[in-house]
Amino acid sequence: MKTDCFASSSSGNAYKVSSNTEILLELGIPVNKIMKGGSLPPFALLTHEHNDHAGFWKEYAGLGGKIITSKGTADALGGGDCFMTIESFKAIQVGGLEIMAFPVVHGVPEHLAEQGERAVADPFGFLISDGEKTLLFATDTVNIFYTFQGITNFLIECNWDEETISPSTHETHLAWAMDSHMSLKTCKEFLKRHTKSAEEVILCHLSAKNARPEKMAKEVKAIVGVPVGVCGKSGGIKFY
Ligand SMILES: [Zn+2]
Ligand SMILES: [Zn+2]
Repeated sequence: MKTDCFASSSSGNAYKVSSNTEILLELGIPVNKIMKGGSLPPFALLTHEHNDHAGFWKEYAGLGGKIITSKGTADALGGGDCFMTIESFKAIQVGGLEIMAFPVVHGVPEHLAEQGERAVADPFGFLISDGEKTLLFATDTVNIFYTFQGITNFLIECNWDEETISPSTHETHLAWAMDSHMSLKTCKEFLKRHTKSAEEVILCHLSAKNARPEKMAKEVKAIVGVPVGVCGKSGGIKFY
């Protein structure tokens, strides 16, 4: 099971999992940047409706792509035949992959809610299994309140680090990060419960200002003891 990153940040996200079947994770950048001359996987998973994750769903649907997501996310995006909605903890089969969704927590901070920002409808994380390996994909969530058995691969948000807060970060932006994105501390606590089965950890959706990739990778590696990669804002994964 291989994970590719095409973009990873609050300005755009797209990843691909390749095993016996290829599947896209998120559609937050133009589709031609995902294809890069290659073929386009026929299915994509969406965690939630924010633009940096779903902004290019219409372009993908126009090319015949099917989008697997929660009913809440599909409705928030306007719905349509391209959506295949799934419920949490009910596995479905896509080619040779078994996909199961679980609820995550992606709040809207008070100051943005007051300005009319809608609550996120029904955000999901996903477990993707090919029968041999299982990938957990979770981003834009303050925490994951579950412990899963047998997760070998992780593509998990590590957005901010309380020891790396840039003084230039506006306090409302910081409140937003703290209410809706996973910190290094939380990410480490979650991974600590999953070290038995972990074989590879990739950190994604890092804040530009409040995260140091190498520091995060080293601290995570000290816990999991397996290769730890960090997704680049414009794609690629650097392993430490
Ligand atoms: Zn995001
Ligand atoms: Zn989001």
